[in-house]
Amino acid sequence: MELAINGGSPVRTREFARWPVFDELEQQIVLRALQSGKWGGVGKTWTGEEPFIPQFEREFAQLQDAKYGVSCVNGTVALTAALQAAGVQYGDEVIIPPYTFVATATAVLAFGAIPVFADIESDTLLIDPDQVELSITPKTKAIIAVHIAGAPANLTQLLEISRKHGLVLIEDAAQAVGAKWEGVGVGAIGDLGTFSFQSSKNLNAGEGGIVITNNHSLWVNTWSICNVGRVPEGAWYQHEVLGQNYRMTDLQAAILLAQMTRLEAQMQQREASVLELDRLLGGIEGIRLLTRDPRITRHANHLYMFKLAPDLAKKIDKEQFIRSVVAEGIPVSYGYVPLNRTNTVLKATKQWLGEERVYECPVCEQLCAEEVLWLSHNVLLSEKQAMVDIAESLDKVIRYYGS
Ligand SMILES: *Cc1c(COP(=O)(O)O)cnc(C)c1O
Repeated sequence: MELAINGGSPVRTREFARWPVFDELEQQIVLRALQSGKWGGVGKTWTGEEPFIPQFEREFAQLQDAKYGVSCVNGTVALTAALQAAGVQYGDEVIIPPYTFVATATAVLAFGAIPVFADIESDTLLIDPDQVELSITPKTKAIIAVHIAGAPANLTQLLEISRKHGLVLIEDAAQAVGAKWEGVGVGAIGDLGTFSFQSSKNLNAGEGGIVITNNHSLWVNTWSICNVGRVPEGAWYQHEVLGQNYRMTDLQAAILLAQMTRLEAQMQQREASVLELDRLLGGIEGIRLLTRDPRITRHANHLYMFKLAPDLAKKIDKEQFIRSVVAEGIPVSYGYVPLNRTNTVLKATKQWLGEERVYECPVCEQLCAEEVLWLSHNVLLSEKQAMVDIAESLDKVIRYYGS
């Protein structure tokens, strides 16, 4: 069969499922938020009711098994607020993985803390706890476990390391709404957890974020940082700490409450599609599936990540491979580039430190350049035939380049 990129006919011409999913439910609740006269989350509505933000914070925290939640403008700010609430300061080192969205590093750099990169595990693409332990110095204050693609990192070992060395453990769970590690919601296992409700995420309101925790004083600190330094129960013009206005609007909280009612069904559909893709792609020579730790009792499947087999990856150019699969009608993508090599991160680090810092993350660098490929979660919300089309396209392109 001639490849579509060479003029053949593509395997798939149908669109994949659109994201986000919404109907009258969102229309009605946004209208209610609008008519309430209370577009921010502080105080009461015109009819004396509670705005949507406090309800959303309670329900979201509960979903992830946390006692407290502080909503905010986005997932990047949620990370910065969590770090500051935990006492991380200018000049402190924070250990993070190189395989994550740029925000994990920029949230650290935002106030002069220094990201230190610990390489990832090649079979899961998650931060390698052994590398974390090797990266600890007297300046280390915190570890950020990033649950990439919706797969929880090894929280048992990371928690053990953080306790042993007196470090704060923060979970960047931006991609992991609904995920669980040994039956417990992510975000509530470390000291603090952060989520993003940006458009592409599995629960979204266009933008938005939240910090969750089980620790009362960390909740108070986070709340103050997000509320211009006020204290819960304090006076309006009583500013006790340095904070900013990081609050989201009540219209966003309203959308999020409506979207939350769809979450379980969407998670189940993604899970079914992943089972099918694992079965189909697992049968293709030239493709390697990621390993899933059995302690991941629920995966959020924000991304479906897989790898080209090393021998095939050596033979072909990853970008050419992607162009060929995209031409077959499958929106496969390149994914992250290593953050330890990203210029902005290196420049900002140098600016704060006054000197260059170089980190080698050979596992991440090789996998990014040669092997890892992504499909986004809306693909997993498509009909069953879509998974068959994905497998057929990959098989077709691999046969062409692999032979
Ligand atoms: C999306 C994302 C963020 C940032 O969230 P925003 O809401 O876009 O600021 C942080 N970390 C990870 C891993 C993400 O995927």
